[in-house]
Amino acid sequence: MMADAGPAGQFVAGGTDLYPNMKRRQQTPQTVISVMKLSELSQISGDPASGIRIGASVTLTDLCAHPVIRQAYPVIAAAARTISTPILRNMGTIGGNLLLDTRCNYYDQNYEWRKGINFCLKKDGDVCWVAPGSSKCWAVQSSDLVPVMVAIGARLRFASTIGERVVDAAGLYNDDGIDYLHKRPDELLVDIELPATNGWRASYRKLRRRGAFDFPVLGVAAFVETGKSGAIEQAKIVLGGIAPSPITINEAAQKLIGYPLDAERIQAAAEAAYIKARPLDNTDFVYSWRKQMAKQYTLRALQDLMAS
Ligand SMILES: Cc1cc2nc3c(=O)[nH]c(=O)nc-3n(C[C@H](O)[C@H](O)[C@H](O)COP(=O)(O)OP(=O)(O)OC[C@H]3O[C@@H](n4cnc5c(N)ncnc54)[C@H](O)[C@@H]3O)c2cc1C
Ligand code: SF4
Repeated sequence: MMADAGPAGQFVAGGTDLYPNMKRRQQTPQTVISVMKLSELSQISGDPASGIRIGASVTLTDLCAHPVIRQAYPVIAAAARTISTPILRNMGTIGGNLLLDTRCNYYDQNYEWRKGINFCLKKDGDVCWVAPGSSKCWAVQSSDLVPVMVAIGARLRFASTIGERVVDAAGLYNDDGIDYLHKRPDELLVDIELPATNGWRASYRKLRRRGAFDFPVLGVAAFVETGKSGAIEQAKIVLGGIAPSPITINEAAQKLIGYPLDAERIQAAAEAAYIKARPLDNTDFVYSWRKQMAKQYTLRALQDLMAS
């Protein structure tokens, strides 16, 4: 069907992102192809000792409620539980969340509002109102599960008429608010492969205005794997909600690797996250405050790991 539809075709899962965008004429596919009746995309299979596969159409509600996910991958259940509202989680899927459109104050508006400012680079216009001299769009990657999947090293399987390919979550996202995925539009996300739970721990902290529901304006995913000596062998700190792609802060990980997780190391990692975080003035809250919060939320995410 996608091959027939050509470039004007687009997949839809729960439609909780795509349909509002279509109403605002931000996304204008001529043919919309639902993936919700493909039963193999709605399964969760495997076991934590060797890894779990989550079908792209598994709803966020089912993801949060799944006993294996809750027990063996609590960071995923916890992050998914912060997404939108219970009703939207009944419709919204993990696949749609990982492929979410980027967001910006000048873009997430109705057609008439956008027309009033003569649109912008991302859709129908030729100027970026956030950085008028820029030829790039800075709209923000705003999914809660993306930083988590990057931090834990999940892999995503895509299928199209020309075959299948598997990519690391870290390699899927592109630092450009318009061309935000390293993926062709005709590629179907089939499933997400989670790594085996062999001794790693991960946590997620989200900054948003309303606790009841809101997109993240900063999300911090922290991952550590500790060796037999008690020292950290692998670490990742990934920030979401501040740039067109998730930002992996290698400098923060370097502050942790080789040491036990203690207050001094956590502080050093949080400082490194602060230095590298460069939010822009195109979502909620003052961006300089969001930068400061990158430190606080990294501290909290790592403290969660200390306590777990
Ligand atoms: C009020 C409101 C609040 C929200 N709050 C949050 C929030 O706090 N955090 C957050 O992360 N998100 C939030 N969202 C966004 C959205 O609800 C979720 O991200 C949801 O998981 C999207 O999933 P979906 O199945 O509805 O995606 P859809 O809208 O169906 O699709 C999203 C994108 O993914 C593509 N797609 C979907 N499935 C596939 C597939 N299998 N293969 C290829 N392409 C595919 C679609 O073409 C589209 O580009 C919110 C939305 C609303 C309306
Ligand atoms: S960052 Fe610039 S081009 Fe991108 S959506 Fe915002 S105003 Fe438009």
